[in-house]
Amino acid sequence: MLGALMFFLHRLLALVVIAILTCLTQAQAGVLVASTHPLYLIAKAVTMGVENPVLLLPPASSGHDINLRPSDRLLLKQSDFVIWFGRDYEAPLYELLAHQQNAIALFDLKIFRRLPLRDLKGQAIPQSLDPHIWLDPENAISIANYIALVRGRQFPAHAMQYQRNAQRFAEQLRAAVTAEKSQTPRSYWAYHDAYHYLESSLNFKFAGALTVDPELPPSIGQLIWLNQNRPHAETMCLFAERQPTAALTAKLSPIHYYPIDEVMASSTDFVQGWQFLAHRLEECKR
Ligand SMILES: [Zn+2]
Repeated sequence: MLGALMFFLHRLLALVVIAILTCLTQAQAGVLVASTHPLYLIAKAVTMGVENPVLLLPPASSGHDINLRPSDRLLLKQSDFVIWFGRDYEAPLYELLAHQQNAIALFDLKIFRRLPLRDLKGQAIPQSLDPHIWLDPENAISIANYIALVRGRQFPAHAMQYQRNAQRFAEQLRAAVTAEKSQTPRSYWAYHDAYHYLESSLNFKFAGALTVDPELPPSIGQLIWLNQNRPHAETMCLFAERQPTAALTAKLSPIHYYPIDEVMASSTDFVQGWQFLAHRLEECKR
């Protein structure tokens, strides 16, 4: 009996030592801060088993609406690696992060497929950047590889693990894209032009946006233009981050509204979040 108790205590002690060592390793590894939720989900996949990245903004907060608390500013200063998209998406972070040594803006790197912003009628705006780059699966994979590279250089002991994680992330996301690939093309309207990077994977064609700024309501002139140029006399699909008012729905009728969450706030995994978005958009084709 005593022998069994001693054995149990010994095992317990060993577990406590392992737990302390794990904590120490993680503390030494510093904190990786990701600005917005989709970036956090990618960082989480890459750092799995090594560290837990920290999300700066609340999960539902997009780069279009940023409110920083004093504690957020402190976190950005204390982190040893801050990754954010950049000024075109998270403008309020620019003042803070532009000259901070530990911060890297993804838009400054030349490793992504870039698409231009489009005006309300779908015409590309020269020299512009559509900031929703993470919705393109190959861009998400490039981000994952980049995080693995930077973090692997900062902590060479974990470099292999970061690489393996990034590799697995790429395989899972590509498998999800193959499963979603749809042959049927379909035109759609967007509340604001946010889904450009999903169009080629899912075979959608942009037929116009209601507003340039997601925080602003559409103009009467734009509603008239959309109706005059609607590609489907029958129901149009409207992808939007907010429920259109009854009055707005009536003016564009017949429409079917699909709520889309560009930051994947309800997902805890990027691949699942991307698939969820894809399924939601595919509902429009049924
Ligand atoms: Zn957006």
